[in-house]
Amino acid sequence: VEAASPEPEIIFRSKLPDIAITNTLPLHRYCFERLPEVADRPCLIDGATGDARTYAEVDRLSRRLAVALRREPLGLGRGAVVMNLMLNSAEFVLSFFAASRVGAAVTTANPMSTPHDIAKQIAASGATVVFTESMAVDKLPVDAGLKVVLIDARRDGCLHFWDDVMASVPDEEISAPAAADQEEASESGFDPDDVVALPYSSGTTGLPKGVMLTHRSLSTSVAQQVDGDNPNIGFTSDDVILCSLPMFHIYSLNTIMMCGLRAGAAIVVMRRFDLSRMMELVERHRITIAPLVPPIVVAVAKSDQAAAHDLSSVRMVLSGAAPMGKDIEDAFMAKLPGAVLGQGYGMTEAGPVLSMCLAFAKEPFKVKSGACGTVVRNAELKIVDPDTGKSLGRNLPGEICIRGQQVMKGYLNNPEATKNCIDADGWLHTGDVGFVDDDDEIFIVDRLKEIIKYKGLQVAPAELEALLITHPSIADAAVVGKQVEPEIGEIPVAFVTKAQGSELSEDDVKQFVAKEVIYYKKVREVIFVDKIPKAPSGKILRKELRKQLQQQQQTA
Ligand code: AMP
Repeated sequence: VEAASPEPEIIFRSKLPDIAITNTLPLHRYCFERLPEVADRPCLIDGATGDARTYAEVDRLSRRLAVALRREPLGLGRGAVVMNLMLNSAEFVLSFFAASRVGAAVTTANPMSTPHDIAKQIAASGATVVFTESMAVDKLPVDAGLKVVLIDARRDGCLHFWDDVMASVPDEEISAPAAADQEEASESGFDPDDVVALPYSSGTTGLPKGVMLTHRSLSTSVAQQVDGDNPNIGFTSDDVILCSLPMFHIYSLNTIMMCGLRAGAAIVVMRRFDLSRMMELVERHRITIAPLVPPIVVAVAKSDQAAAHDLSSVRMVLSGAAPMGKDIEDAFMAKLPGAVLGQGYGMTEAGPVLSMCLAFAKEPFKVKSGACGTVVRNAELKIVDPDTGKSLGRNLPGEICIRGQQVMKGYLNNPEATKNCIDADGWLHTGDVGFVDDDDEIFIVDRLKEIIKYKGLQVAPAELEALLITHPSIADAAVVGKQVEPEIGEIPVAFVTKAQGSELSEDDVKQFVAKEVIYYKKVREVIFVDKIPKAPSGKILRKELRKQLQQQQQTA
């Protein structure tokens, strides 16, 4: 990406003034800074059992685990990498913050991933310890010298989270909160620019890459969402927040977990999303904030169960991770007339939140239908003409770029990809096309980048293309996303050129891919073509393929 032109740039900022942000603390301290005030309040509530742990308990458990992490056999310290390979649980939160305490980074992964993808991420991230559960443990590579901590079962060769790891630390070896903070800082030689979270994302192009999110970037992002003299724009300590989205995705980890803790709110942890359980939990725990993704918003809008539950406690519903149309918004609001539904816009690399709705600011701004809110405070946003690189004024669509201390440090071991994403002036190029309207509201209208979003989850076309061309009967292949019903968003469609004389069928291709990938990356449609359109450089002309798909949809 070229650095910006010398002409004065048109920069958009939040409708609210900037705030003072302290972003030099370790992330666990930032998130638990209000501990003395909220010590006895519920912190994590188990959605399945209803058991609640207070802030003091969660903090103490994470200090206990940090002691165990530092010791043999785990032996973790500054710069180490831990993998969290599990669905939502208290143990996920504990291992995340314990890792932060010892100066390690946590790389997160979906436990439903294939053994191949898990092994790739372990090797690429350099993870040496894996926190996981029974459903995924057999998928771990056996020859990688990993130390495996199992949260839900005993098994030879693995440590049990509670019985082996936590129980190995006697009470007297856990320092009090302030002393632990001191010891940890001096032992680990903390730097705010150390990586603490390492989610994988394919960004604007290519294969998934490790996104280096530091203590500084994540505490800045948390502050932008919940700090300052405008307490209600985010969460308060009176809130009860639903956590039905997977913590292995940064949306849940940052906007629910980190922001929820920073605010001192109670977080109701669902192991995984389930519509009727979710409604029960809203009613039982009087949930006030529900961060969701469009497919769940659609599910609620279409469900006839909403009327059977008292959902009146919900004051705010957030939607992000994928676009949401106006008809869905309207249908949803009919089910929860007492709540405000606001969209946020995030991207893993952006730290992750770029914009949020300000319906609960001291002087509230009304939610605009279809908008993703305004750019977060203490950040700059511009809209760039993708052809000329010039920044554009209001109501003109172009590539959305963001700058601020919340943005990732870069991709792990990949300076080239980092340079293509963050330019020399520090602007992160999102690959999303949008505009800013007269009220500073951001609208996303298109995507320049390759990624496909199936129910808000990333599918990298490059990954599927690399797999497809390993098939002996496939000469060439390209994958693009196709818009389908809002419950799903987009599906991967493969354009395939057969090898000469091959009898390959659509089903053969689908089954070949399905055997190798996690469910949401499956190829759902195959179109055979004589040739994949490419630029002279060899780059696939995805725009043309998307156009073909659109034409096909129009004629269908
Ligand atoms: P991820 O890194 O998995 O969070 O994916 C980030 C991408 O999801 C963004 O760059 C957008 O393309 C898309 N996205 C996130 N939030 C929204 C939203 N509110 N509306 C439209 N697209 C979104």
